[in-house]
Amino acid sequence: MEVKVLNGKVVADKIKENLKERVDSLYSKTGVKPCLAIITMDNDYASKMYVKMKVNACKKLNIDTIIENLSEESTTEDVLKLVDKFNNDDKIDGILIEHPLSKQIDERLCFNRIALNKDVDGVNAANFGLMAMKENAFVSATPAAIMSIIDYYNIDIAGKNVVVVGRSPILGKPVAMLLLNKNATVTICHSKTYNLNEYLKIADIVVAAVGKPKFIKGDNLKEGVIILDAGYNKGNVGDVDIEACMNKVNAYTPVPGGIGPVTIAKLLEQTVISYENKNNKKLTLKK
Ligand code: NAP
Repeated sequence: MEVKVLNGKVVADKIKENLKERVDSLYSKTGVKPCLAIITMDNDYASKMYVKMKVNACKKLNIDTIIENLSEESTTEDVLKLVDKFNNDDKIDGILIEHPLSKQIDERLCFNRIALNKDVDGVNAANFGLMAMKENAFVSATPAAIMSIIDYYNIDIAGKNVVVVGRSPILGKPVAMLLLNKNATVTICHSKTYNLNEYLKIADIVVAAVGKPKFIKGDNLKEGVIILDAGYNKGNVGDVDIEACMNKVNAYTPVPGGIGPVTIAKLLEQTVISYENKNNKKLTLKK
């Protein structure tokens, strides 16, 4: 059996294909570029990498970025003040709070403070609710990326057993909803799940969102399983020990080069959509 690599770079390029044109076209009419504001604490290996990659990707599409790097001692109030400032700044099209923030910060409160129309990373609980109800909403970027990979490679998920390992509000939970909305039979596992291997055994597709390097091994996987590994750990390692799974796997997303680049593409796409929504409204009002 030939194992298929689900190359995220190809999917990301497809998503980004016309974004620059869309930005340039509106920029020529308005003279204003899109702008993404990023709030980060730079205290986490993955966060640092993600912010750098996101800023570079924005540059290529003529999207401006503003980075607010808060000290590790900052308070929830400090973050909320910044979010309010960006919410009220017409130049800002998207606000991204790079997860995770320091432990003392009420991250949920901060996420929920982001104006829905600027929540291009899809972290506000209200956007989660709208998405879950299949209504128009900005979707959490990594879950949206996973669905784009599924779409691009025509992976049939209807009725399939999909096991999501991890239930974080920005990854495990929303991806489970998106999969459910596409008729997958979804099981969400987490740190309190008894006997995770029993669930993995019946999975046609595994979505790994644990944050533990090489956590999922091959022993209990079903023959022909598809692995979608969202994990990104120190040393460019995913949450799945893919070498150990190779004899079972039908297709998989590599780390790096799988879900990561598509996540950034989805963030860019949603930022451009927010920029378009703002400017199209203004242009219509002008007429
Ligand atoms: P997180 O908030 O730390 O959540 C981890 C989840 O894994 C939690 O739900 C936790 O369960 C569960 N878990 C922990 N130990 C477990 C165990 N032994 N068995 C089963 N489940 C267990 O992490 P996250 O933000 O969702 O991120 C997960 C991974 O994805 C990380 O590697 C992160 O770097 C990566 N990530 C990648 C991208 C990308 O663009 N590729 C974007 C975001 C995140 P409890 O809820 O019970 O604690």
